[in-house]
Amino acid sequence: MTKRTKEIIILIILVIIFTGILLLLFWEFSPKKEPIENPIEEPVYLEANDKALLEKGYSKEEIESLKKKLNENEQEKLLKLPYINLKEYLEISNFHFAKYEEYEAYKALNQTLSLQDVVTQVNLHLNEPFYQTIEQIKNPEEITVLVNKSHQLDANYIPSDLTPIPSFPNLKLRNVAINDFEELLAAAKLDGVILIPYSTYRSYEYQDGLYQKYLQRDPQDKVDTYSARPGHSEHQTGLAIDIRSDSHWSSLTEKDYEWMKQNSYKYGFIIRYTKDNQPITGYKEEPWHIRYIGKEHAAKVVQLNITYDEYYDLYINKTN
Ligand SMILES: [Zn+2]
Repeated sequence: MTKRTKEIIILIILVIIFTGILLLLFWEFSPKKEPIENPIEEPVYLEANDKALLEKGYSKEEIESLKKKLNENEQEKLLKLPYINLKEYLEISNFHFAKYEEYEAYKALNQTLSLQDVVTQVNLHLNEPFYQTIEQIKNPEEITVLVNKSHQLDANYIPSDLTPIPSFPNLKLRNVAINDFEELLAAAKLDGVILIPYSTYRSYEYQDGLYQKYLQRDPQDKVDTYSARPGHSEHQTGLAIDIRSDSHWSSLTEKDYEWMKQNSYKYGFIIRYTKDNQPITGYKEEPWHIRYIGKEHAAKVVQLNITYDEYYDLYINKTN
């Protein structure tokens, strides 16, 4: 190699290095675009998982909705399973991936049910015998609290604001329900319907005594259709009322019941145990038992024509 050739090679190397330095400097000091942050905080999962899901046969749309619906653990679990068609489930707001197998089993046994009903009923543990799975209630003071055969109040729970009903001072309700209840009584009276409350707040111990008394008369499976086990009675919330017509000792006349069906929701009360509700609530029809949930929710429950149990799972339950 001649001296001249060596010089040319060195020159070329120097030019390359110099150009490289210039490019680096240009890169470093050029104005940078801020990456646009995703404003919605969704659990974002790894690109690698996206790829693995695509390979399993999930479409891009499915993967997008899976990302929104499933937490990290659930996404991990999904990766270990063969493709599952979750498209219809992902349209359902109260769908829980953890219960997927339960939904499928229940669906197979109840083929006339819609998938929405399958999901809601399994969430409410209706795929099991009543009282088999029991969730302890964590929000007993909320007026939307769900108390049923699978949701139990603590034995020590006593509402903090029990207040005598002004026109029936021997009976107590949560303070929040008092005015609306008095208004309901007054409105009914104007229409010639005289209503008399006869059982409102009941303590855990009182309910226990009542249930035990019934057990001496009837077998348990029968008692369970008309009396709540202790901790499972809405009366312990101070938001339930048993009401009767003045001409009846414990229930409503047909005319008065009709008035209640048409009007009670306007004052925030729903008729909790109707004949149609029996498969969901597990109680025989109780025209006399009303429950306060506030005007807004009561109007929606009546409009949707569903049980409060279903309404709670669909619209109130924060774990959905
Ligand atoms: Zn009752």
